[in-house]
Amino acid sequence: MKSRKPLVAGNWKMNGDIVTNEHLFTALRSALERASISQVDVVICPPFPYLGQAGAWLGDTGIAWGAQNVAAAANGALTGEVSVSMLADLGCGWAIVGHSERRTLLGETDEVVARKASMCVAGGLGVIACVGETLDEREADATEAVLARQVEALVPALQGADPARAVVAYEPVWAIGTGRTASPEMAQQAHAFIRARMAHAGVAGADAIRIVYGGSVKAANAMSLFSMPDVDGGLIGGASLVADEFLNICRAAAVA
Ligand code: PEP
Repeated sequence: MKSRKPLVAGNWKMNGDIVTNEHLFTALRSALERASISQVDVVICPPFPYLGQAGAWLGDTGIAWGAQNVAAAANGALTGEVSVSMLADLGCGWAIVGHSERRTLLGETDEVVARKASMCVAGGLGVIACVGETLDEREADATEAVLARQVEALVPALQGADPARAVVAYEPVWAIGTGRTASPEMAQQAHAFIRARMAHAGVAGADAIRIVYGGSVKAANAMSLFSMPDVDGGLIGGASLVADEFLNICRAAAVA
């Protein structure tokens, strides 16, 4: 039994509408309540416009809900952005920062991601900070150098964080949405490296901070990944849109 409580977060990405979401919320709510998976922290991250809907459907359950992104500034002239305090005001508990789609497609740098993570910590929002190498970087044997750089940038945020409210997601970019998953051994190696890096940088909660794996996790491969000693759950994209798949992934995290 691991000392860290597993966490499974569903990243719905830019998917959903009011009616479809309602079906998914209903299914998750009743299934998770029936399964009473209290030994897993579950976080659902729909797109911004549906956060209120998430609060209405999940607010009185043990299921948390979060945003997929947050502004790197507190407030003011930043059209289209949403701040930590606005999310907290809404009752939202978590935010994902540094997802590779935002790093790659929207040009978010390590520095911007670190600022967002720090804003979450300072504003009392749980943070799921994503790191991970591209295929080119892995093939060039640069995985550890990339992870070291990305984790290093997050250190000031992680140093000030409550370990229960700070999560690092290792998401190899080549595994996201591709159906290609890191092997459990590859994931473990990366997770152990990230944990060692945090400890080396003086992050007091390095042993308690959860490091979750993301990248084509499905019910069929969740158990083998989550059984690894430093894999503390998952960040789930595509499979989080299918109630039964997501529920079975949560079940795997509960028993791994
Ligand atoms: C993600 O978007 O964070 C992700 C891991 O996606 P998928 O599970 O679809 O690979």
